[in-house]
Amino acid sequence: MKLDATDLRYVTSDEFRVLTAVEMGSKNHEIVPTVLIVKISGLRNGGVNKLLGSLAKRNLVSRVQNARYDGYRLTYGGYDYLAMRAMSKRDSVYSVGNQIGVGKESDIYIVADKDGNELVLKLHRLGRISFRAIKTKRDYMGKRKSASWMYMSRLGAEKEFAFMKVLHEYNFPVPRPIDQARHCILMEFIDAYPLRQVADLPSPGALYSTLMDIIVRFARAGLIHGDFNEFNILIRRDTGEPVVIDFPQMVSTSHKNAEWYFNRDVECIRRFFKRRFRYESNIYPRFRSIKSEKSTDGSEEWHLDLVVCASGYDKGEHKVLEEYMDNLQKEKAEAGSDDDENSGSEEEEEEEEEEEEEEEEEEEYSEDEDGEVPDDREGEDEKASV
Ligand code: ADP
Ligand code: MG
Repeated sequence: MKLDATDLRYVTSDEFRVLTAVEMGSKNHEIVPTVLIVKISGLRNGGVNKLLGSLAKRNLVSRVQNARYDGYRLTYGGYDYLAMRAMSKRDSVYSVGNQIGVGKESDIYIVADKDGNELVLKLHRLGRISFRAIKTKRDYMGKRKSASWMYMSRLGAEKEFAFMKVLHEYNFPVPRPIDQARHCILMEFIDAYPLRQVADLPSPGALYSTLMDIIVRFARAGLIHGDFNEFNILIRRDTGEPVVIDFPQMVSTSHKNAEWYFNRDVECIRRFFKRRFRYESNIYPRFRSIKSEKSTDGSEEWHLDLVVCASGYDKGEHKVLEEYMDNLQKEKAEAGSDDDENSGSEEEEEEEEEEEEEEEEEEEYSEDEDGEVPDDREGEDEKASV
């Protein structure tokens, strides 16, 4: 989905009114009846039809004729437009540059503020690949039976922004969050490359222990990243220091599957270091021993999971997202992969697959046979801790 910023300036105020009416109508209607759009917009009937036509031409809404009534739905483009407009009104975004990433659940653009500073705009696209995860759980949605991708994407952005803000305040190595509107977040641009692209390291052990320290600091502060892997760790071009990104799936250490999530984060790093750098260490953190250890930065006192909730992040509403995320994890487990984002060459992919097969037998934490996220997992003997 291409974000078309050129249109941003050419939407008239009446068109904007109609677009907003479609958005409001989508809260309760999968396809918003044209009569309802007319009513919400408060404009003349004939006028609204014409405006809808011009919005549809630019793919901001799409017309759906169904058996019972004629109506429209907001497209990704329309939702993007509304979010961008909000950010540009607040002067946080002035211009839109190149797309730098297409994740499974987001599109990433370089944008600039009015002083020309480069920033990163992340547009959440939850529900793009995993519509099933929502559809099968329609009952979570309550009255909101429609527009689930829009709803989920907005929840994802709110959650990511709330966590990033708190993490940044507490000096975790994360990008500085700047603004959030609907399904979009705006953050500092990190001049870096994903760890995934790093072929060689002079001393992999140093980065390995820095990363394990970050996992431990998260946990001491009551949090687990939940997707801590080579795609979500950026390595700064100048200093080589890691920066962690991508937070919509973060969980509290009091989550019922906390230990499983924690172990998976640790395993992802161990597996990657073994594969890529042939680096293995017996030293890695154990979930159960973390609580009892003292940190040097006092992070065991922080309870950032609670701080995030106190910051206005609505845990009640976000229950839906949490269930969606749990469901997504199950789907990923069923599909048998947890990090198959589409970067990297095919050759490398194949090579890794082979290695993966070899490793599967020796893996410490394998999925349950039925692919379920386990409710509880017995810890193994405490071997070592960082
Ligand atoms: P997704 O949820 O789709 O995985 P991510 O937040 O992980 O999205 O971002 C996807 C990619 O975009 C990253 O791997 C990285 O290359 C790039 N990226 C994201 N945020 C930043 C940032 N603040 N600075 C620089 N690059 C970024
Ligand atoms: Mg990511």
